[in-house]
Amino acid sequence: MNIENIVTGIDGIVFESKKDLTKHSTMRLKCVGDLITVTSVSGLKSCLKTLSENSIEYRVLGMGANQLLSETSEIPYIKLSLPFDKSYLLNARDTYLLPASVTLSVLSSHAVKKGLKGWEAFTGIPATLGGAIFMNAGTNLGEIGPLVTRVFTITKEGEENIHLMNEDSFSYRKQNFLADGEFIYQVEMKHFGEDPSISKQIKEYLELRNRTQPLKEWTCGCVFKNSKHKRTCLAGKFIDIMGLKGLTYNGMRISPKHANFMENTNSSSHKDVVALINIIKDELLLQYGVEFETEVKL
Ligand SMILES: Cc1cc2nc3c(=O)[nH]c(=O)nc-3n(C[C@H](O)[C@H](O)[C@H](O)COP(=O)(O)OP(=O)(O)OC[C@H]3O[C@@H](n4cnc5c(N)ncnc54)[C@H](O)[C@@H]3O)c2cc1C
Repeated sequence: MNIENIVTGIDGIVFESKKDLTKHSTMRLKCVGDLITVTSVSGLKSCLKTLSENSIEYRVLGMGANQLLSETSEIPYIKLSLPFDKSYLLNARDTYLLPASVTLSVLSSHAVKKGLKGWEAFTGIPATLGGAIFMNAGTNLGEIGPLVTRVFTITKEGEENIHLMNEDSFSYRKQNFLADGEFIYQVEMKHFGEDPSISKQIKEYLELRNRTQPLKEWTCGCVFKNSKHKRTCLAGKFIDIMGLKGLTYNGMRISPKHANFMENTNSSSHKDVVALINIIKDELLLQYGVEFETEVKL
């Protein structure tokens, strides 16, 4: 079925066929596929409804900081690019209603200026707000989940939905309320008051990340989750102890700076990351009898 014919004419979307999507992931994996960029909520509704009526699957793409795009994709990617007037962030507010395509760096910069308590949790995470909520992104300073009050979505069938958050809405690096294919387009967030010391905390944490993580390389963040062995047995520590730092497979390298990161040093693709992940998994099992779940979406 020709997707272009089906979606062309829908207001608020741009369809690009067989586009080079290498720059659409932070790991810069080679990728070619169809991209639908959505610029309005009504466009998103019509697009998802139309795809559903034609039984066409899709993948949701945020900043591509936590997904490994495959070299070619038959399934189209949908990316949100909703308008956002930055003057909305000139003053601190009690609650914020934000498009899901806004980036965490924009929100962090607002948090630094206004000293928003709680917002230090997502310091330095490259993400769109939608992707951060999908992943319940977080750092040693906390997670984004507790800052979220309502999540506005469009279902796979093109219906609007509003999720009210409760204590079960999030767990470690995941949300528990979205149905398959449900698309976040808007988010309501709060903070825990204003505190000038937050600005300093955010700046210091950014410096720490710069020192300890390969932020100048093409990576997808931490490859493995630390959940099962949280705090005491970090995945990176195991990989480091096994002497695998620097190990390279087809241009994909285990970071010499932080062993839970992989760096794309030379036009690697999805299959190279998967091969390196499998090498690490086999060694972990052989040498220590431990298994780590991947955090990155394969
Ligand atoms: C250098 C680096 C450092 C990182 N550090 C951290 C860290 O400290 N903590 C941390 O938690 N993560 C970290 N990450 C991983 C990544 O930044 C997070 O997982 C982030 O939340 C991904 O957001 P994204 O917009 O890139 O989403 P993507 O990677 O594009 O997508 C991730 C998942 O969310 C889904 N999704 C995206 N947008 C939407 C939407 N609008 N509606 C519904 N589903 C959606 C996608 O389909 C996919 O399943 C790091 C990554 C890098 C490259």
